[in-house]
Amino acid sequence: EVTLDNITKRFGSETAIEDVSLTVRDGEVLSIVGPSGCGKSTTLRTVAGFETPTEGRIMFDETDVTDVRAENRNVGLVFQDYALFMNMSVMENATFGPRMKGVPKEEREAKAMELLELVGIEELADRDPASLSGGQQQRVALVRALAVEPEILLLDEPMTGLDAKLKKRLRREIGQLLTDIGVTTLYVTHDQTQAMAMADRVAVLNDGRIEQIGTPETVYEQPANPFVANFIGTSN
Ligand code: ATP
Ligand code: MG
Repeated sequence: EVTLDNITKRFGSETAIEDVSLTVRDGEVLSIVGPSGCGKSTTLRTVAGFETPTEGRIMFDETDVTDVRAENRNVGLVFQDYALFMNMSVMENATFGPRMKGVPKEEREAKAMELLELVGIEELADRDPASLSGGQQQRVALVRALAVEPEILLLDEPMTGLDAKLKKRLRREIGQLLTDIGVTTLYVTHDQTQAMAMADRVAVLNDGRIEQIGTPETVYEQPANPFVANFIGTSN
């Protein structure tokens, strides 16, 4: 499990997140929702190690990783600004992490093939990422992230680049996949309906603070305050 323990992140005088505490349990999908600028990406980037918290600790199980560099944290990333390696094939992308860790070629390729099959793009293994559609690239990014058997999968859904229909399909597929393989996941999505449908628990963030964290049912039926009621209720 992964714990954020009273995390505050300031950029100069700007407080991006304030006193955020939450635990993502083993195998759980925890979705973070909230308006633009509320601190969702900052929260994920802090877990990944791309941002150092101003205050607080990040724990991976019993280990304090607050001062551990990003490349030494075993996390899987699917971020908008963490693109595929365009000079490598799909298979090379999918096996990149395990190769860095010294996993033998045959083993890492067999594993990658399994994951490519899971997301339905095994026939694209030898292609260049640049020749793939946006949705196919997203799937490769997911495979690359899962191939390292991460402590936690961090998904920051891109707002742009994909059409609405494809986004919807991808979200459904990714939701099913995460449920099937049971990977510990922090999932930022801009689709509240999707978050409510697939997440084990939902954290509602507003202006850098957690307003409520609970099962979709609890957040929906017993919103902690008018903000949560309004945000969950009126979103599409
Ligand atoms: P969106 O839904 O639009 O992606 P978000 O919830 O992911 O928004 P963040 O990107 O976490 O929001 O930003 C939270 C706040 O922190 C914003 O006010 C943003 O301007 C600020 N912020 C984030 N990164 C930086 C940075 N590197 N320097 C200064 N301010 C930052
Ligand atoms: Mg963001």
